[in-house]
Amino acid sequence: MALQVYNTLTNKKEEVVPVTPGKITMYLCGPTVYDYFHIGNARPFIVYDIFRRYLKYRGYDVKFVMNVTDIDDKIITKAIKEAVPASEVAGKYTNAFFEDLEKLGVEPADEYPKATENINEIIALIERLIDKGLAYQIEGDVYYSVAKFSGYGKLSGKNIEELKSGARIEIDARKKNPLDFSLWKAAKPGEPAWDSPWGKGRPGWHIECSVMSMKYLGETIDIHAGGSDLVFPHHENEIAQSEGASGKPFVKYWMHNGFLNIEGEKMSKSLGNFFTARDIMKKYHASVIRMFFLQKHYKSPVSFSEDRILESQNALERIITAMQNIDIVLKDIDFEDNDDQKVVEQIAGLKSEFLKNMDDDFNTAGAMSNIFDLVKEANHILSKTSLLREDYITLKEIRAIIEEFDSFLGILSYKEEMHTSVSEDSLISILLDVREQLRKEKLWNLSDEIRDKLANLGVEIKDYPDKTIWMKKIKS
Ligand code: AMP
Ligand code: ZN
Repeated sequence: MALQVYNTLTNKKEEVVPVTPGKITMYLCGPTVYDYFHIGNARPFIVYDIFRRYLKYRGYDVKFVMNVTDIDDKIITKAIKEAVPASEVAGKYTNAFFEDLEKLGVEPADEYPKATENINEIIALIERLIDKGLAYQIEGDVYYSVAKFSGYGKLSGKNIEELKSGARIEIDARKKNPLDFSLWKAAKPGEPAWDSPWGKGRPGWHIECSVMSMKYLGETIDIHAGGSDLVFPHHENEIAQSEGASGKPFVKYWMHNGFLNIEGEKMSKSLGNFFTARDIMKKYHASVIRMFFLQKHYKSPVSFSEDRILESQNALERIITAMQNIDIVLKDIDFEDNDDQKVVEQIAGLKSEFLKNMDDDFNTAGAMSNIFDLVKEANHILSKTSLLREDYITLKEIRAIIEEFDSFLGILSYKEEMHTSVSEDSLISILLDVREQLRKEKLWNLSDEIRDKLANLGVEIKDYPDKTIWMKKIKS
């Protein structure tokens, strides 16, 4: 099956046919840097990181751009409150943003353009829109005239009249239509400002994404993504600006993730019901947070609670434990002979189920249940009293697949945290050597005592006819 994604523009799943065969251009609306980002904001950063890496895994040459909004009302308000320049607020939280993304295991984008570094390009696009009669100037402000763009409303699926009545929009008597939005804002005293043909001022929020998407990825791109709160007005306005200027389709596939909710409400800075990603990562490994999002389809709402995070941690530990136990069992196994064809085929079937789920609008929830099928199969083999050659091959294959998928899932790094330290490993080996001696001397009580006490500590001893190994206990 070919890769399909749900396109907000057409309201249906569509096969992905890139503008240029073999290449995917992808843009994600990035943060406004006036605070640390919260775990709700982390959802788009993580899920689109996984999708971008999956597309690469599938052989596409992916170019991925995420902007940083480093000039905005919220940044200015915070700067005034803290009595520091707006650039200082933006600088501090841009650095924090990059630090947190790295900790979350997000691969760096190909470009992270900033609004303040693209002012000339923003002015040039606004001039183009004025020249085309799509924008108008009033006393140093420039507005987009939505009535002049016939496709306005096509993304949110509403016409201008419906949007007018439904939207909470600022009333500005100078505007021709209440839905007209700011492209350029005249400077207010004390605010950061740049020279422009309309006097000193700063760009509106929507225009920067049109500029940066077209500058770095071209006038028509494949995927433009963000949270579902961005459909209207942000993405609707981006379409009006970009298509109004270029006359070409702006984006082929619009993707929008669902919200992370807390106690039934969207987690948001303005409601104050948020936990920063950096605080959550003090307590939980980034892989646990990735796992938490992977277990849900990206379009579904997801409820945040510590219990749910702990469930994800448990689920992740089941995968990691199986991987560690496979390593232990396979340690001295020689795979020189050719692999068992039957086993390879059976595992390939499980692998293709996983890929089918990922190709079906990135159904990570389904894909993770396929991973758990593999883990279950591995645990079943690991619990046997003696292993056949095909068992070893199956374990090897399962391990290889999970590791291969981790190139985009990015969850196995949890291993380092969980792995028994070297000294514990060696202590257990010493105990096993002693136990071996006790068994040789038929001191069964003592040898069983060692086994039982280790079992109480979560270490399981398995006596095979030819050797004894230890494993971590499998969590149920
Ligand atoms: P912001 O910094 O508010 O512009 O948000 C950055 C990104 O996070 C945007 O793509 C938003 O749509 C997304 N976002 C904000 N809040 C949530 C939430 N509670 N759940 C999921 N995504 C969110
Ligand atoms: Zn944007």
